[in-house]
Amino acid sequence: MNDGGKVIMRAQEPNVRNKNFEEVELGYTKEEALKEASRCLHCKIPKCVEGCPVNIMIPEFIAALKEDDVKKAYDIISESSSLPAICGRVCPQEKQCEAKCVKGIKGDSIAIGSLERYVADEAIKNNFTTIIKVPKKNKHVAIVGSGPAGLTCAGDLAKAGFDVTIFEVLHKAGGVLTYGIPEFRLPKAIVENQVKSLKKLGVRIRTNVPVGNAITLSELQEKFDAVFVGTGAGLPKFMGIEGEDASGVFSANEILTRINLMGGFKEDSKTPIKHAKTAYVIGGGNVAMDAVRSLKRLGVDAHIMYRRSEEELPARKMEVHHAKEEGIEFNLLQNPVKIIVDEQNNVTGMEVVDMELTEPGEDGRRGVVEKEGSNHVVECDMVVMALGTGPNHEALKESPIALTSRNLIEVDESGTKTSLDNVYAGGDAVTGAATVILAMEAGKKAAKQIIERFS
Ligand SMILES: Cc1cc2nc3c(=O)[nH]c(=O)nc-3n(C[C@H](O)[C@H](O)[C@H](O)COP(=O)(O)OP(=O)(O)OC[C@H]3O[C@@H](n4cnc5c(N)ncnc54)[C@H](O)[C@@H]3O)c2cc1C
Repeated sequence: MNDGGKVIMRAQEPNVRNKNFEEVELGYTKEEALKEASRCLHCKIPKCVEGCPVNIMIPEFIAALKEDDVKKAYDIISESSSLPAICGRVCPQEKQCEAKCVKGIKGDSIAIGSLERYVADEAIKNNFTTIIKVPKKNKHVAIVGSGPAGLTCAGDLAKAGFDVTIFEVLHKAGGVLTYGIPEFRLPKAIVENQVKSLKKLGVRIRTNVPVGNAITLSELQEKFDAVFVGTGAGLPKFMGIEGEDASGVFSANEILTRINLMGGFKEDSKTPIKHAKTAYVIGGGNVAMDAVRSLKRLGVDAHIMYRRSEEELPARKMEVHHAKEEGIEFNLLQNPVKIIVDEQNNVTGMEVVDMELTEPGEDGRRGVVEKEGSNHVVECDMVVMALGTGPNHEALKESPIALTSRNLIEVDESGTKTSLDNVYAGGDAVTGAATVILAMEAGKKAAKQIIERFS
């Protein structure tokens, strides 16, 4: 057994990759995958499976990989997950399966995400399909939103013989996977491939359909036997400071959507991105990292500004590490209080204050206070707000569906059943901004409930 520690995935050189949108991490070779797989102990009670929200049989797929049976490894993963090439890339494994791996107690946990990615990429390369033959049921389900929650729900229902139609407001399916997460972390060809697999299962995807306007939720309820709402949380938050309406202030979602979905960085784009010289991205989460790294690739002198310290940065450690390697400057313990503009209302800078951390509150999180008299000005011509997002309930317009005090869709103890009779919901629209795998888990749960209801 190899145990010289984890096999680290090769990556593009930082000074090369910060000028292109190609994938940063290059994947394992077969030799690297087998070497990493050989480190797995195949625990009798595998904690890693408990750590995976969709309970992939991790030791079993790694065992198949060790025997060099990639197809079997893929079939094992496919029993629990319909988006493995995506999860292998963007799941926070360090907080889930890999955090539970016993190898991590004294050394490096198994690189489960990297192995999952290897298996899924081989499946794409070799066109593996998992043929499922079930009798068709005469039951029709509408899914609102084609993010990971909607796609997963659709996949599980189609495999169980349901007739499924997804309604998506944008012109491409995939939700945040398509319009939010940048190409250099998640190539769009991978998302398109996973969407294609769903279509092969018979799922219909109707794009450019804003539910709530083109068709209402009540109409879907009448026309379909069940409805799943997975509309995400795509509504950006702003700070409410002076100058925020200036030309040159964006939400991170807008910047990322323009780059990922509209190709706004290309010369011939119909929705070009304003070419800034210096940009500050306000926030410290994954979305902030994606926005700042994307801007860097467009040749912008791109900075992060975050009001707490490095320790509290909510982004994945790997994303922060990659951003620093690529030359992003982190301005920590600083916060803008005003955006400074010229006569044409263009951004020319920000008035910023230094911040100090306070002792942790009841939730264990340290607060911040402004350092008196620390106001100073930084020059920039673009400010990007990456302060979190909330749900956009356009799809629920005029529907009597119950919402929580946090303005999220209310579900009962089952986790996905809403207050309306044949309507289920899951993903960010129910939890608030969370993760791909949690959205998938919700999609799976809802599909299971719908299947049980009609069996
Ligand atoms: C920039 C960014 C980076 C991220 N990085 C990661 C990461 O690395 N790892 C991770 O695990 N998570 C990450 N996340 C979070 C993750 O992407 C989300 O938690 C996940 O996508 C939620 O899935 P969902 O299906 O609930 O919603 P979404 O992915 O938001 O999909 C909702 C879909 O519903 C559609 N829709 C909305 N309203 C309507 C309507 N009225 N009619 C029709 N369609 C509608 C939307 O257009 C969208 O396609 C990231 C999020 C962002 C924004």
